[in-house]
Amino acid sequence: MPTESQLNDGALRAYIRRKIEDGLLPLTLSKTIAIGAGSGGDCPACDQPITVEQIEYQAFGPRYGAAVRLHWGCHVLWQLECVERLRRS
Ligand SMILES: [Zn+2]
Repeated sequence: MPTESQLNDGALRAYIRRKIEDGLLPLTLSKTIAIGAGSGGDCPACDQPITVEQIEYQAFGPRYGAAVRLHWGCHVLWQLECVERLRRS
């Protein structure tokens, strides 16, 4: 179960980086975020289900209509990766 320790999880960070490179996660900064209980769907960052006991982040960016639903910890890692990539490019 994802926890705060994910923030220091280099393996997950590398996994998310690969997902961005493969186009499975958008390279964008979230403009609007809705927070709620998990809906049971799989998190696109770590492929684990977001259970009702967990916090689900619904991130909306400028370039895509549907929300990206992830664990909050996965959202942080995803956004960190996006910020670094956008800064480099
Ligand atoms: Zn996740």
